[in-house]
This record gives sequence, C-alpha cells and structure tokens, in this order.
Amino acid sequence: MLNPFDRYALQKAIELKRNNNAKITCVTMGPPPAVEVLIDAFDYGADYGVLLTDKRLAASDTLATSYALHMVARHLGEFDIIFTGLQTTDGDTAQVGPQIAERLGIPQITYCEELEVVNKKIKARRVVEGGCQIMEAGMPALITVANSATPLGHKKFADVAEVKEFLRHPDERQKRIKTVNLDDINADPKRIGLVGSPTVVGKTWKIGEIGGSCVMFQGESLQREVEELMEHLEQDEREIGEIINVQR
Ligand SMILES: Cc1cc2nc3c(=O)[nH]c(=O)nc-3n(C[C@H](O)[C@H](O)[C@H](O)COP(=O)(O)OP(=O)(O)OC[C@H]3O[C@@H](n4cnc5c(N)ncnc54)[C@H](O)[C@@H]3O)c2cc1C
Repeated sequence: MLNPFDRYALQKAIELKRNNNAKITCVTMGPPPAVEVLIDAFDYGADYGVLLTDKRLAASDTLATSYALHMVARHLGEFDIIFTGLQTTDGDTAQVGPQIAERLGIPQITYCEELEVVNKKIKARRVVEGGCQIMEAGMPALITVANSATPLGHKKFADVAEVKEFLRHPDERQKRIKTVNLDDINADPKRIGLVGSPTVVGKTWKIGEIGGSCVMFQGESLQREVEELMEHLEQDEREIGEIINVQR
C-alpha cells in the first residue's frame, strides 16, 4: 500500500505540479505487487511510475534502500525535486529521504510544511520544536514532507478514469510504468540486501497489551458530572503522587 506519510509528499508534489507545469514520477522499491502503489499514485495525479523490484533487494535496511533508490534517481536522469514522506509506518526511521539526498550530494529540507518555487529556488517552511524555520535551497533538492503539511485531497474522477483507460492499453501502460531491476540501474549487489545492510535485528518480542479503563459519570446535572470527574482526577493524582513518593 501507499505509505500514508507519502500521501502528503505526493499532495505537495501535485500542488507544485499545478503551479509550475511539472511532471511527477513516482518510484517504489518493493515486490512486483507494489505496482499497485504506483497506480494509486496515478489516480491522485502522478504522471509516470517506476517500480524497482529484484529478489536481491530482500532484507535491505535503510542504508541499502537509500542506496537502491538513489541509483534509480541517477538512472532516471535530471530532476528538480525529490519528495519523500517524513517516515514510513513500517520501519519508521525517517532515514531514507535524508540518506538519498546525501548520496546524491543535493540539499535537503526535512519536515517541510509549505513550499514554493520562486526564480528556480525552493522556499520552504519546516517544522521545528516550538516554531518553524524558513529555508531556501537551490534545485535539485530533496524535501521530506511533514504530515502537518496540507489537508489531503481526494482522487478526481477524471484522473481515475484516465488511469483506467491507459492501463487497458499495453503500449501506453509501458510508457507510463517502467519496471527496473538492479542491473538496469547499475546497482552494486554487494550494497543491497542482507549483505549490504549493516542493521541487525538482534531480538524481537511482544510488549503485551496496554490496558485502559473507562468510567462514565452520570450525575443528576452536568455540573454534578463535572464535579465527580474532578474528584476522580484529584484522587488519581493523589494516588500517582503516593506511588512516586514510595518509589523515591
Ligand atoms: C534488518 C532489516 C531487514 C529488513 N528486511 C526487509 C525485507 O526483507 N523486506 C522489506 O520489505 N523490508 C525490510 N526491511 C524494512 C526496510 O528496510 C525499510 O522499510 C526501508 O528501509 C525503509 O525504511 P523505513 O521504513 O524506516 O523508511 P523511512 O526512512 O521512515 O521512510 C522515509 C521515506 O522514504 C521513502 N521510502 C522508504 N522506503 C521506500 C521504498 N521502498 N520505496 C520508495 N520510497 C521509500 C518514502 O517516501 C518514506 O516516506 C528491513 C529492515 C531492517 C532493519
């Protein structure tokens, strides 16, 4: 599935595309069924898709993933901006975007909420603790998009209908969706998969379920219900205070 954070990245790219007459190429690295991710992105308004798929990629960690993805970028040639999500809902590391930028030797603006391109320069607002930063970068650059960036738009019927149509024509499908393997992008097999991944999962375990309880306050009036709630919270606070004191 399309990583939920990548929806924000795609949305920002689509906004820029509208204002700058640009084209969007979406890239996904995954097994063959990951082509569905590209089709989903087409439905939202992407123009081209590239699926990097190769059995040798199995067990790749973030370092290997960013190596493979930056090789796709090199293979595709010139670009203005690479958008990535902030993080995945899988590994959750938020490393892949910045690593791709480092490997390509291009500027990166992470946690980006707003951006525009003015005179071939990117002006972006990024989230920082307690505020924001306004940054400028030349192009090409890489942007990781924060999930506070933008309300997500819906698929448009016209886009979905157009995608359905081109998928029915093998020639058109081939023009829009490219499938590549490691040899096509000149990637070094020693830098991907298990052998190219320095991360080792030492142990995994289940942390158990976090329980919770629910108390309903039903007094004769709203005021009484709020008073009961406050008494309950104060009692909780006293008990927590006692626990902390005992631990000290
Ligand atoms: C030891 C180890 C073994 C692993 N083995 C496997 C395995 O066998 N098979 C497997 O599927 N996963 C495997 N993973 C998980 C995989 O490495 C990560 O999902 C991947 O590297 C992305 O890292 P992340 O989830 O932290 O992404 P983040 O860094 O949190 O992602 C940031 C952004 O980068 C972009 N991005 C990340 N991954 C991709 C991608 N694949 N294609 C396009 N854009 C991307 C997205 O825009 C995303 O929003 C393994 C991880 C480890 C640590």
